[in-house]
Amino acid sequence: MMIDLVGFDGDDTLWHSEGHFRRAAAGFEQILGRYVDVRDAAVRTRLNAVQRANLALFGYGAMSMTLSMIETAVELSDGRIGGRDIQRLMELGKAVLQHPVELLPGIRAAVEAVAARHRIVLITKGDLLHQERKVAACGLAHLFQRIEIVSEKDEASYARVLGEFAIQPAAFVMVGNSMRSDAEPVVALGGWAIHMPYHVTWEHELEHGVPAGHPRVLGVQGADQIADAVARCG
Ligand SMILES: [Mg+2]
Repeated sequence: MMIDLVGFDGDDTLWHSEGHFRRAAAGFEQILGRYVDVRDAAVRTRLNAVQRANLALFGYGAMSMTLSMIETAVELSDGRIGGRDIQRLMELGKAVLQHPVELLPGIRAAVEAVAARHRIVLITKGDLLHQERKVAACGLAHLFQRIEIVSEKDEASYARVLGEFAIQPAAFVMVGNSMRSDAEPVVALGGWAIHMPYHVTWEHELEHGVPAGHPRVLGVQGADQIADAVARCG
């Protein structure tokens, strides 16, 4: 079946994102160091666990991470964390929300090349306002038929988008950096995926059930390989 619709992920596919979250996590560790021995307390591990436990309630993104940093700080400091340090944690979260949008190398040309041949849609998750701002600032929004900001990138979300475009899954390919969010649910529906790994990935996104060498998952090393990979799908 010919490819009829191409989906693009936003964070760490169109623009840099995870590095900003990593910087906030490093700042969190530094602040917690005033209360606990950060190595003994396994601060990063605990923050990750709290973030993942909170996903179902708070969703993805920097606001959710900020609340999880505060929760973890109160827990690990046994309630001793001061108001000023809570304020510093808030500032770390706000910095993630306010960083300038920086496109990945070559992605503008790649999106333009794919858009010249196919209808394209942006499918992203995270804080609604933050994602809207990044979409507005990225300079690519006009190329997309539709911008979908979803709370979870699962089979139901992709099936809904494909249904709205009246597209068979086999005529759809999703381009993204996360096997868990961009590839697994799409290939489960019968679609295609192009995986472009980013140099850092949140632990949560590394867990997935796509077997190595899946025939409908193509790997690329950079944006300049995306258009060719799309041509090899379908
Ligand atoms: Mg991503």
